Amino acid sequence: MGLDDAERHFGNYSAAPKLRLQAGDRARFHFLSTGYDIHFAGGRFHDLPPIGDQTYGRSVVCIREFTDGEEVCAFCEEGAADFSNQFAVWALIHCIYHNGDNPDSNPDAEPWEQFKLGGRIVFKETIEESLLIWLRAGRAKSRFLQFKGFAVKYGSLEDRLFELRRAGSGIDTDYALAVVKEEKLAKKAVEEAKEGLLSVEDIFRSAIGGGPAWIPPRISEDGSEEPAADEEMPVSEADLPSVEEVAEGLV
Ligand SMILES: [Zn+2]
Repeated sequence: MGLDDAERHFGNYSAAPKLRLQAGDRARFHFLSTGYDIHFAGGRFHDLPPIGDQTYGRSVVCIREFTDGEEVCAFCEEGAADFSNQFAVWALIHCIYHNGDNPDSNPDAEPWEQFKLGGRIVFKETIEESLLIWLRAGRAKSRFLQFKGFAVKYGSLEDRLFELRRAGSGIDTDYALAVVKEEKLAKKAVEEAKEGLLSVEDIFRSAIGGGPAWIPPRISEDGSEEPAADEEMPVSEADLPSVEEVAEGLV
């Protein structure tokens, strides 16, 4: 009891580290899961409305659904009725290609390196961290089925360099998963990247989960911050190094 006990129960982590993409961003990564292990999971989530003056609501896994009815879900008991299907998978995120340069106005912030990708200039933010790709399954599970499609086709999500691209924002957000190329990571690199990762199920069950931030559909989002994802970037330097385009889109 008391403060010390309370603090002990908080645990050492504050939040599950998640990949966050803006419209037009392309993340390049290796999955840290075959698709058939503890580093990939999905579930039905309660979409809870924002509290007070918060803009974003939060999502909490429905523990009743998640345990096939064995555990009682407090949110079901309260009558929460908005649901979404969500899934998450660990990935070693190598970099994100942005349409614009580093927005960090801190004087110490480094400009991002420029590359050509698919005929346009992109700005490379190096990440090299294990992060969760946590998404809503999408209409008719369309996003989820992209991930499953590759796992079924190759028997595993591992051993390939993938790209996840976000298009649009707000309720028009969409994600496209594609293979860049077959590329095995060194065993040691995989071991290091997987070290200490919690299972996705544990994250869903814990307070550190929380799912992707979301805006209830009733509130329309101001579209003014939409980056110019599909506009032509002014080409300032003809001979920037090129980045390999994706080889394979939807299966
Ligand atoms: Zn529930």
